Amino acid sequence: TRNTADKTSKSKAYEEAKRRLEMEAEDRKKAVPDIRKRSRRDYLAKRGQDKLDDLDAEVQDEEFLFGGSSLTEKERRNMDYKRNVLKLAKEHKKAKEIERVDRYFLPEDDVKPQEKYVEDAKEIGPNFEQRRWEDEHFHAGTLRFGARDAREKSKKAAKTYDVIMDDEIEFVQAIKMPGTMKDKDIMDKVSKKFASSRHETEDLSEAEQKRQAIEETQRSLPIFPFKGDLISAIREHQVLIIEGETGSGKTTQIPQYLHHAGFTKDGQKVGCTQPRRVAAMSVAARVSEEMGWKLGNQVGYSIRFEDCTSERTILKYMTDGMLLREFLGEPDLASYNVLIIDEAHERTLHTDVLFGLVKDIARFRPDLKLLISSATLDAQKFSEFFDDAPIFRIPGRRFPVHIYYTKAPEADYLDAAVVSVLQIHVSQPPGDVLVFLTGQEEIETANEMLLERTRKLGSKIRELIISPIYSTLPSDLQAKIFEPTPPGARKVVLATNIAETSLTIDGIVYVIDPGFSKQKSYNARTGMESLVVTPISKASSNQRAGRAGRVSAGKCFRLYTAWAYKNELEDNTVPEIQRTNLGNVVLLLKSLGINDLINFDFMDPPPHETLVLALEQLYALGALNHQGELTKLGRRMAEFPCDPMMSKMILASERYKCSKEIITIAAMLSVNNAIYYRPKDKIVHADTARQNFFRPGGDHLTLLNVFEQWAETDFSTQWCFENFVQHRSMKRARDVRDQLEGLLERVEIPVVSSPGDTIAIRKAITAGYFYHTARLTKGGQYKTVKHQQTVMVHPNSSLFEEHPRWLVYYELVFTTKEFMRQTIEIENLWLLEVAPHYYRAKD
Ligand code: ADP
Ligand code: MG
Repeated sequence: TRNTADKTSKSKAYEEAKRRLEMEAEDRKKAVPDIRKRSRRDYLAKRGQDKLDDLDAEVQDEEFLFGGSSLTEKERRNMDYKRNVLKLAKEHKKAKEIERVDRYFLPEDDVKPQEKYVEDAKEIGPNFEQRRWEDEHFHAGTLRFGARDAREKSKKAAKTYDVIMDDEIEFVQAIKMPGTMKDKDIMDKVSKKFASSRHETEDLSEAEQKRQAIEETQRSLPIFPFKGDLISAIREHQVLIIEGETGSGKTTQIPQYLHHAGFTKDGQKVGCTQPRRVAAMSVAARVSEEMGWKLGNQVGYSIRFEDCTSERTILKYMTDGMLLREFLGEPDLASYNVLIIDEAHERTLHTDVLFGLVKDIARFRPDLKLLISSATLDAQKFSEFFDDAPIFRIPGRRFPVHIYYTKAPEADYLDAAVVSVLQIHVSQPPGDVLVFLTGQEEIETANEMLLERTRKLGSKIRELIISPIYSTLPSDLQAKIFEPTPPGARKVVLATNIAETSLTIDGIVYVIDPGFSKQKSYNARTGMESLVVTPISKASSNQRAGRAGRVSAGKCFRLYTAWAYKNELEDNTVPEIQRTNLGNVVLLLKSLGINDLINFDFMDPPPHETLVLALEQLYALGALNHQGELTKLGRRMAEFPCDPMMSKMILASERYKCSKEIITIAAMLSVNNAIYYRPKDKIVHADTARQNFFRPGGDHLTLLNVFEQWAETDFSTQWCFENFVQHRSMKRARDVRDQLEGLLERVEIPVVSSPGDTIAIRKAITAGYFYHTARLTKGGQYKTVKHQQTVMVHPNSSLFEEHPRWLVYYELVFTTKEFMRQTIEIENLWLLEVAPHYYRAKD
């Protein structure tokens, strides 16, 4: 019942919107890093395109060769057939593209979301994915009708739809993850307990109200009713495995319970390890708030290059790596009364090594209490490892979570995630959204995409608060994710794996899981380590889904198909110890006097060849002698909380008289990915500013230059701003540098400088990183010297267009190719000078 004018203006608006969207889609496609194009989701599409290209070429060849003449009947038929298939395929492709554009609509009337999903849910059943796949492929063959039908249908539909969103993803609901039965009982018990203390809060002071709010929260945690039982169990057993749903209060509450039960008397410490630095910081902050103490006094945290503790600290949160280092100064950890190895299920390298070490000290320190705490995974295995230690289970509280899968694979999961967020925002009841992405870069991109699209939608949608969280995010911004969402608004947390189990954000009802995380991968043959975006495991995927069911029934949208979940995801994540370079850990264990590494008590031993390679590398670096014993150099290297190559570089700066420059470079490398700032509207300016920092010789010297220029301005914030440099990262680099300077003193190396002597500086770097040498081959490619692996200079590098014959790189990052990040030019003769063990002159 609309009038014609209305319709015309509408279709005009539609045309315009469509054009804009197409252009945007094009831009986005260009911006998608290749890694995502490579994802398994795009595999089929890619294969289709390849086939099409092949066929095209074939038909053209044949036409050229035969021109249609002098063919047998059979050959002609064959060729006609091919031509037809080609035509069909091309049409299909076009139809698909049109279909895609037509999908950019949502119903004008608010379709009740449930109804939509119920409808989808009906489609499931045995072999649904398989049937659908077959369906689609069947249609690919007979597509003329199917596609036209679909087009007609969506055209009709489009008339009544309004442009709200520029894309939409179809999900199917497959399963419901059940909640736990005891919920209600626990809730009843808890609410009865403090029902009486609830009223009459109005007259109270603000501080008192806050106090009460904290207490209320504490009492509502699933662990609370078990406080007494837990403390008794700890008194009774030396080693206890504690298993509980994420968010039940293990990390924040147990240390407080221990304190109240007297485990911290006489300044004895309770130590609690975390695999991630952000978790250590954030949890310590939370606990100090709950206790009403100032952070850094009684409650503190210790992470690499940042010690926020004092003499008075009794509850100490720290990364697992830091506790490992504490063994160097205090081999029996005598200052601790209780040790909690938290998030044990994460099975990080350092946690795994700690298992062996704490098991050992528990034997000769009967007074020490040892708690191994984990999410609901692997408890049995931990128990077995710790001589059948009892398991204390905290009954979980989880509401059911409905799980939705995409109907078809998504080619670009980042885009799909952004679209899903908006889809949830416009169609779903209140509740915050948690999106799992793989790293800072991706999070920033998603953040920008969301900002841009919500800005365009303007007042059509309600407020969307975007909070990123990743490990290098400054701590004041980290706190933002915990701020309660104002009524009417919706929060979307863009997080790395950190939100899988380490951090619990209240209020999450929707989880979007693209199914990837960034993982270290290690090739024990070549010794090459790189960060790779990898599909997550089923265990991970279920943990992620569980995050949606903490406050109410939730929904988890998986950006992959049910088929992929079932057939492509591994059951469990491989422990880090089996896929990483062990140089660091071996050096540390050797420094602790543990020589027999082959027989060290590992829960899951690392591959033999990895261990051997680590020994070899340490030998080449001069940290071990040919009998595998720690050398003086090795002992000094262990003083630095850095990987062996970096430690070696720092120590080598003594010989080349450039320790001042080298520790600056080391500090800058430690924050390396977060130095330059590249706002979207000033990309050209930012890139020019970055290139102005370039120094001949390579990226390390450029980093040095950035720091030195900044230091000359007396560490000015304004300078950073003008030069598109991230001030926070620079401040962090300065802190790291200060610490390294302190450590230099410990190993008695004077801070000396050779200004401008880039050869000395580059030789010192090479002395640490000679393992990472690449050479330009005749074919114009770089290959690693030891294993002839093809690697490329990162496009951001100052050496990208220089093509020096010999390079040393800082790290490899695998996206579509193995990229070397941070490279310097060297001369091959230096290798003989700095690593005589390893390189020998060709005679
Ligand atoms: P678990 O270790 O069992 O996974 P936690 O002790 O980490 O559980 O979390 C318990 C509760 O504390 C959760 O409800 C979580 O939201 C809250 N919490 C943890 N850290 C913070 C913080 N920094 N700010 C606000 N709340 C927090
Ligand atoms: Mg925890």
